[in-house]
Amino acid sequence: MHDFNYRRGRLFCEDVPLDRIAREVDTPTYIYSHATLMGHYGRLDRAFAPIPHLICYSVKSNSNIAIVHTLAKAGAGLDIVSRGELHRALKAGVSPRRIVFAGVGKTGEEIALAVEKGILFISVESLPELELIERVARARGKVAAIAFRIKPGVDPHTHRYIATGRAENKFGLDLECARAAYARAMAMKHVIPIGIQMHIGSQITDPAPYVRAIRKVLPLIAALRGMGIPLRFFDIGGGLGIVYRDETPATAARFAAQVIPEVAPIRLTLVLEPGRFIAGSAGVLLTKVLYFKKGKSKNFVIVDAAMNDLIRPSLYGAYHDIVPVRTTKARRIVADIVGPVCESGDFLGTGRKIPEPESGDLMAVMGAGAYGFSMSSNYNSRRRAAEVLVRGRRFEIIRARERWEDLTRLERIPEFIR
Ligand SMILES: *Cc1c(COP(=O)(O)O)cnc(C)c1O
Repeated sequence: MHDFNYRRGRLFCEDVPLDRIAREVDTPTYIYSHATLMGHYGRLDRAFAPIPHLICYSVKSNSNIAIVHTLAKAGAGLDIVSRGELHRALKAGVSPRRIVFAGVGKTGEEIALAVEKGILFISVESLPELELIERVARARGKVAAIAFRIKPGVDPHTHRYIATGRAENKFGLDLECARAAYARAMAMKHVIPIGIQMHIGSQITDPAPYVRAIRKVLPLIAALRGMGIPLRFFDIGGGLGIVYRDETPATAARFAAQVIPEVAPIRLTLVLEPGRFIAGSAGVLLTKVLYFKKGKSKNFVIVDAAMNDLIRPSLYGAYHDIVPVRTTKARRIVADIVGPVCESGDFLGTGRKIPEPESGDLMAVMGAGAYGFSMSSNYNSRRRAAEVLVRGRRFEIIRARERWEDLTRLERIPEFIR
């Protein structure tokens, strides 16, 4: 569900035609719908209304501070994975009391800032990290609230790069080691374990793996309570899937209907960490056709967006719908839609049946709101795209297109090679 619709053959985001944004902001540009963001957040929030819960939007999926601010204003907390994301969260005006911090490789500096700001909890992913948190908190005379991230050992049946809760994944602690870890934390003076966290993967369309994972963790929660651990939060992570092509992901309501009966009896505050579910279909990547190149064995539509702007097709073989911004009666052709980057892996879509395009035509790559701009790079010395937020009839640039000077701003030619 999203707010990108055709009106008389023109693709709009809410009440703004995309060709107008192309004229004023140029391409490639990421365009986000305020209504879609709020709609998805709201649906999830209402679905879990029967139980105490906190939705911590996963900042890495789309980290623009305007997006983060929008969601925080609606009541969301945040899930962060780095000091940079903490910086963004604070810039966006989010209370540290609503921030949870995951990641296998947090540095002492990152932990120190999280402890100083007093975030809700740190999700601890190893015992050496626990020891470091204790030392850092002691040095500052603080007590750090933590949760351990547990690998429940379930396979979420998603792309292997985005499955994170299996025993062989790098994230979290094995279920069997959890009791000893909590006992160790309880023996510390500057750490207090108040939660248990997991995150089994991404783009999961079926609630069943969540239910399996929760059921594996429930006996641990009972055991921890028996040990006197003051648990307050059960964080089941993010990973809720969306429609890219023909998936039929669980709705927020169906997901909640499966999860609530499992977790309600334990009376902990449920934490969710959705990223893609909230931002994914709220954004498109607007791009312009440079050339239509007919070949002997293949046709190519060469557009001005590339793998540096949206890496999901190249990295995961991910599918994104690619649609014309103006519908035409041109005859349909089959082509790969590719960018200007010097890599054969630089494609946005392959074998697409689309109306034959002309140079200058605009296209929208759908479902690009999550892991789009946030995974973009300057590869091939391309400037990162602009980002625009639309709300009703209004739109504004929320990140300017990079300037040529930005590419070399931090570089210098040392004296000794001159
Ligand atoms: C990436 C991530 C998420 C969000 O995943 P989505 O699939 O976008 O919902 C949530 N929690 C943690 C710990 C993550 O690393």
